[in-house]
Amino acid sequence: MSRARKPAWLKSRPPSGEQFTEIKATLRERDLHTVCEEANCPNMGECWSGRDGPGTATFMLMGERCSRGCNFCDVETGGMSPLDPDEPANVADAVAEIGLEYVVLTSVDRDDLDDYGAAHFARTITAIKERDPSILVEVLIPDFQGEPELVREIIDAGPDVIAHNIETVERLQWPVRDRRANYAQSLSVLEQVERESEIHTKTSIMLGVGEYDHEVYRTLSDLREADVDIVTLGQYLQPSRSHLDVSSYVHPDKFETWQTVAEEELDFLYCVSGPMVRSSYKAGELFVEAVLR
Ligand code: SF4
Ligand code: SF4
Repeated sequence: MSRARKPAWLKSRPPSGEQFTEIKATLRERDLHTVCEEANCPNMGECWSGRDGPGTATFMLMGERCSRGCNFCDVETGGMSPLDPDEPANVADAVAEIGLEYVVLTSVDRDDLDDYGAAHFARTITAIKERDPSILVEVLIPDFQGEPELVREIIDAGPDVIAHNIETVERLQWPVRDRRANYAQSLSVLEQVERESEIHTKTSIMLGVGEYDHEVYRTLSDLREADVDIVTLGQYLQPSRSHLDVSSYVHPDKFETWQTVAEEELDFLYCVSGPMVRSSYKAGELFVEAVLR
């Protein structure tokens, strides 16, 4: 199969600057991991500097290996290690030291643990809020295999945004995601947060994995029906040749159209849509702008 050439709009500049260097040094001192660095995310320069509002960095909790193996994701599968009980305090200290006003916490999936890691996630939120309740915390959580009491633990810890990614349209859940994930389960996680709390919800869709427009529209409609507040759309990029092929490089104009549809027709609180957008792209700046100002 011939491979599509990467279009010019996907080129990015390497991150730099004082803030970037400082954050990097603090992370190394504390042996902490961010998705930003591990995924070599092209948005690091923009997100970490927070030029027009609070900067955003995404911390990865519970190790570097995942119990699942999604076909689009570069995280290694299996060989799970025990949780580090000091991680919640360590992350909270680093957030305070760096002076982040908005932090995104995410994790690998931990299907190997009795509670799939829900309590560890909740402890990290609590540790950050105890040090400084004004720090805004967004969590990008796993599906916790759809167990409502585990989602409830996250709600009770009081983050400001709970995100869970639906990733793609219903027809492509597999082969895109691990077989343990599915469309209805992901929708139910988001629905529960909306039903049981005032916390803002957020989700993300990758384009370029073989979806049709009418399927993207239906996914957006299903998300709105579940009352999801914020949606992001970005281009899937193949991490290596052994991962899922890119089916198409979606033009920036098409991303813009989806943003208009999501905000003006379907009435999402806001939508961030563009080839380089990731779920946590400038999350702090955009949330403060749309919700708190
Ligand atoms: Fe990657 Fe998340 Fe899938 Fe694990 S569950 S393989 S971290 S996308
Ligand atoms: Fe980090 Fe997310 Fe921004 Fe990428 S988009 S730099 S992962 S906060």
